[in-house]
Amino acid sequence: MLPDPLLHLVELLARLPGVGEKTAQRFALYLVAEKSGTAQALGVALHELGQRVKPCQRCGNIAEVDEHGKAICLVCRDTRRDPALLCIVAKVQDLLAIERSGAMRGRYFVLGRLLSPLDGIGPDELPLQKLFERISGDGVREVIVATPPSVDGEATALLLARELSARNVVVSRIASGVPHGGDLEFADQITLGRAIEGRRSIDSR
Ligand SMILES: [Zn+2]
Repeated sequence: MLPDPLLHLVELLARLPGVGEKTAQRFALYLVAEKSGTAQALGVALHELGQRVKPCQRCGNIAEVDEHGKAICLVCRDTRRDPALLCIVAKVQDLLAIERSGAMRGRYFVLGRLLSPLDGIGPDELPLQKLFERISGDGVREVIVATPPSVDGEATALLLARELSARNVVVSRIASGVPHGGDLEFADQITLGRAIEGRRSIDSR
């Protein structure tokens, strides 16, 4: 039904997260019909993406490549940040979520993946060497492990705590309990377990 170039575009768009075949077709037909140059601008933006945007060489966050070909992100460039405080996250989206909270005054390290024995991802598959180099190079004294409260996230946090305890840094885990406004009934058991373990007494005076 559709010409080949359009079919190809639909196929590519359908690979994006949350975009199904129908939505992809709707996007493609829109781009063909619209007259304000969005398709051309999109083409240029996508072309530049591969050349001008790369993972930060220091932390793995998204960074713009500078004139010397170096990719250092805005967080790593920010001199007001405390270099001795490092927050470890699984993926860039988590870093962005923590940044939005405004609670982190240090810098980050993006693992890119979590320990997952079932999927064959062991400690050797994590960028631990790079992490250790970062810790000794920057004189990091405190590490906050902000991996998600999932089975893989907990396993990764345990591994990191074990590996880092020998390196003279204080390691803490983000407190993760039942989400604010959340219902206990719908919290999974790990979340609930952590919420109970991390309980604090309420001063009723
Ligand atoms: Zn960075």
